[in-house]
Amino acid sequence: MPFVTSSKTKPAYDVIIVGSGAAGGQSAYVLAMAGAKVLMLEAGRNYDPVTETPMFNPPVQAPLRAASTADKYFGFYDATVNGGWTVPKEPYVVRKKNQGDNWVVAADNDRGATDQNFMWWRSRMLGGRTNHWARFSFRMGPYDFKPRNRDGLGIDWPITYEDMAPYYDKVESLIGVYGSNEGLENTPNSSPGILLPPPKPRATELLAKKACTRLGIPVIPAHVAILSQQQDAGKIPGLLHPDNPQAAGWLAKNMRARLACFWATACGRGCSIKANYQSTTVHLPPALDSGNLDIITDAMVREVTVDGSGKATGVHYIDKTTGREEHAQARVVVLAASGCESARILLNSKSALFPNGLANSSGKVGRYLMDTVGGGMAGQIPALENCPPYNEDGASVMHMYMPWWLYREQLAGKLDFPRGYHIEFGGGRRMPEIGMFTELEHLTGGSYGKKLKEDVRRYYGSFMFFSGRGEMIPNEDSYCEIDPDKKDAWGIPVLRFHFKWSEHETRQVAHMQKTFTEIIETMGGKVLGHPQRDGSKAISVGGSIIHEVGTTCMGADSKNSVLNRYCQAWDVKNLFVTDGGPFVSNADKNPTLSIMANAWRACDHLAAEMKKGNI
Ligand SMILES: Cc1cc2nc3c(=O)[nH]c(=O)nc-3n(C[C@H](O)[C@H](O)[C@H](O)COP(=O)(O)OP(=O)(O)OC[C@H]3O[C@@H](n4cnc5c(N)ncnc54)[C@H](O)[C@@H]3O)c2cc1C
Ligand code: SF4
Repeated sequence: MPFVTSSKTKPAYDVIIVGSGAAGGQSAYVLAMAGAKVLMLEAGRNYDPVTETPMFNPPVQAPLRAASTADKYFGFYDATVNGGWTVPKEPYVVRKKNQGDNWVVAADNDRGATDQNFMWWRSRMLGGRTNHWARFSFRMGPYDFKPRNRDGLGIDWPITYEDMAPYYDKVESLIGVYGSNEGLENTPNSSPGILLPPPKPRATELLAKKACTRLGIPVIPAHVAILSQQQDAGKIPGLLHPDNPQAAGWLAKNMRARLACFWATACGRGCSIKANYQSTTVHLPPALDSGNLDIITDAMVREVTVDGSGKATGVHYIDKTTGREEHAQARVVVLAASGCESARILLNSKSALFPNGLANSSGKVGRYLMDTVGGGMAGQIPALENCPPYNEDGASVMHMYMPWWLYREQLAGKLDFPRGYHIEFGGGRRMPEIGMFTELEHLTGGSYGKKLKEDVRRYYGSFMFFSGRGEMIPNEDSYCEIDPDKKDAWGIPVLRFHFKWSEHETRQVAHMQKTFTEIIETMGGKVLGHPQRDGSKAISVGGSIIHEVGTTCMGADSKNSVLNRYCQAWDVKNLFVTDGGPFVSNADKNPTLSIMANAWRACDHLAAEMKKGNI
């Protein structure tokens, strides 16, 4: 019986995994397929995208026409349940500028309007944030693993691109990623035959490409975890599990159950035909089919327990359905609760042997918190006005993007900031939503009746946005720690956040502003709003890009890192962290593909060590 309750667990497991998102799903997949008996504990509720996804409901059928609300930040139909910038019963503590830098509990804030120093997005549901993420899946490149070696800043990873490349291939084959190999600098190709064909560019994308070509900016197919065609279930499972025909069979069954995208619905709601990657439709079904995975949902883990020798014995968790505290036992504990939450669990796991929290002899748990650097701009493009109605269906995210292109100029000292950003962009004719035409007045001067209808038809689809997604360099001022006073509804001490961008990031955002202005103007368009020369006025709030990484950093030296190169705690041999926590840099590439590849690598190592009897 794979979904179990606290009273129905086995007396002990080989591995406990905390969390069921990208990291937890990937870890469970690898370990259960390898034959380990796994218990997954997930703080959120059970969730089934096949039966719960409102794929075809138009906004008009929803309350407030599906508008964003505090508990549904991305709109009524978004897949997130029990999550957002705040989570009921689970506060966290931040600084607020307008309150004299006092510590306060984070509020329900719009990321464009908040004055919090950090925003923390959480999803409390089976599959975590993978149910509604945007699915951009870019590989980190060789430079990204050794950034300090290149420019003397930040921290190098204890592994190289070559260590990760086979795992990128594996993850891409498993989850299904569309895209193309372009051979650009530090923008790695996948092995031949791994990527699915990219969808055709849309009008907005072709127009942007034309302008960018004039500016010397590459525009290439994006890499997105969506099935542009069905996966080859006769071939891929055997390649992924060459020595394990049973695992190949469980995977083949699930691959056959996943259909190709029909390019018409909003992926953020989830996908009931399993065409996009969600942990709930891709990682968990074959792992459950193996019979080796038990899952308890509504299980909020408080701490990792240890024996007298300092080895992990299991975890204490609160069964949210009964309110009772429970203990589960295993040979190994894998934390995959998302970067900051795994750090919180470690810091709350205090004992006589580990008075500063578990795996924290280096004092680095919670340190080097990073988010992606964000900056954006919108434009109105007259060339897209009054377009005849045409079918603009496609993925609900971009088909094309601009990878970072100024490596050589940077090396030659021509830029005033280190590292780079890529550009995500979009626009065109999407399903009309509430608020979509509120920007018209400044173009029309205000209109009513027939003229308003004509104006709406004229401008519909003529707006475009450009979002820079850049690299943050870890700094000493950005970290999370346990708040001395505040506890959640289960009495578990909560996190408080310190966060500071440095000039490296604000200058990068100033460059983004200049670039976006040039692109929009080269397209013959008008910038909406005012481009900022001062990047500190245009940079995103820390955490608001929802790419939280760092806080349990990996390294080559136990004195200044929490984990070794296999995400294994230096201080506790049978404790691993496989989410974004181990990251020591946050390249401009969105992190989730790398989280999964790193988790697969770590769990391959763990499975091999368990077989050898070393753990
Ligand atoms: C709107 C949005 C768009 C995004 N777009 C992209 C994108 O395009 N590309 C990209 O790379 N990334 C994107 N991300 C980020 C991506 O979702 C995360 O990087 C990824 O999900 C991280 O995986 P994870 O397993 O570490 O965490 P999660 O997916 O958040 O999973 C963690 C799980 O652990 C559970 N958990 C937490 N604490 C406990 C506890 N104490 N006990 C038990 N369980 C616990 C949570 O409930 C959750 O289910 C996006 C995120 C959002 C919200
Ligand atoms: S656009 Fe494709 S992947 Fe996205 S929800 Fe619709 S069918 Fe699924």
